[in-house]
Amino acid sequence: MRAAILHGHEDLRVEDVPEPEPGPDEVLVRVEAATTCGTDVKMWRRGHPILPPYPARFGHEMAGIRLDTGARVLVGDSLPCGDCRPCRAGRPQICRAPRWILGGFAELIAAPEAALHAVPDGLEPEAAATAEPLAAAVHAVDRAPARAVAPDAGVLGGGPMGQMLAALLVAEGRTVTLADRHPERRAQAEALGAMSAPSLADHDVVFEAVGRPEAWRAAVDACAPGGCVVFVGGCAAGSDAHLPTRPLHYHELDLRGAFHHAPAEVDRALALLGAGAVDWRPWMAGPVGLEELQDVLGRGNEGPARKWVVVPGAGCS
Ligand SMILES: [Zn+2]
Ligand SMILES: [Zn+2]
Repeated sequence: MRAAILHGHEDLRVEDVPEPEPGPDEVLVRVEAATTCGTDVKMWRRGHPILPPYPARFGHEMAGIRLDTGARVLVGDSLPCGDCRPCRAGRPQICRAPRWILGGFAELIAAPEAALHAVPDGLEPEAAATAEPLAAAVHAVDRAPARAVAPDAGVLGGGPMGQMLAALLVAEGRTVTLADRHPERRAQAEALGAMSAPSLADHDVVFEAVGRPEAWRAAVDACAPGGCVVFVGGCAAGSDAHLPTRPLHYHELDLRGAFHHAPAEVDRALALLGAGAVDWRPWMAGPVGLEELQDVLGRGNEGPARKWVVVPGAGCS
C-alpha cells in the first residue's frame, strides 16, 4: 500500500510499504479521507513529541471503512488510559498516558477498535475526519461559561480552529465577533453568522485560537470584567506569556486552558456535523493525493482558513 512517511525534518516520502498488521485489539481501516492540520505542519517541519521514531507515519484526522465489517468510521487519534489521575477525575482530555493513533496519510491504518467512532449516515468522509478538530472546539466551548451568563463571545484568530469555534458559538445563539488580520478569514466568519473586527474588546468570554504569547495577552485585554478567557491555541514549547495582574485581580477574570478532547466529544462533533449544525465546507480545500501532501503542508498560513482533504487512494488502481 501507499503511505506518506516522515524520515526527518521536511523529509516526507510517499512509499510502497507492506500492509499494516493489526494487533489483537486492532482492526484495519481503509482511509477514505484525512484532513491536514497545523499539528501536521509542525510534525513535518520539526517533529513533534507524539511522533514515533523515524521513519514515522502521521496524519491524525482520518475517516474510512473498516475492512472487517464494512462500517464507516472516524478513527480517533487518541485513547485515554482510563487510569491516571485526570482520567479518574473525569478529564480524559488531559490523560497523562494516552495512546496516540497516527497514520491517516496512508491507504490503510491499523487502529484500536476502541478508537473507532460510527459516522452518521450520509456524512462525507472528509467531514467525518474533521470531527477530530471540531471535537477540540466542542471541548473548548464547554470550558467556557454557558450562553446565559456569557452571551457575547470573542474569538481571536480566524484559522480553522477559530472558524470552528465561531460556528459552534453562533449555533448556540451567542453574539460572536472573530478577529483576524486576514480579510479573507474575517469574511469566512461573517459567512457563518459571526461579526468580524481587526481586534476584540469587552467580551463576556474570549477564545484565544492563535497560539502566540502576544495573542494570549490580547485575549486577556479583550475580556470584560468578570469574564473568562479560554486558551485554545498552544504556543511554542518554552513560551511564557506576560499577563497584566490588574484585570486578573480587580476584574476577577477566569483564565482556562482547553486541550484536545474526550472520545464522547468526538461523538458530539460527529452528531453536529451529521445534523448539519456546523457547515464544514467553507474551510475545506482539495482533494489532493499523497503525492501532493508535502506541497500543501508547505504552503504557509496566508489567505483563507483551510484544511486540505487528502485522499490516500487517489490515483491508484
Ligand atoms: Zn489536528
Ligand atoms: Zn489517563
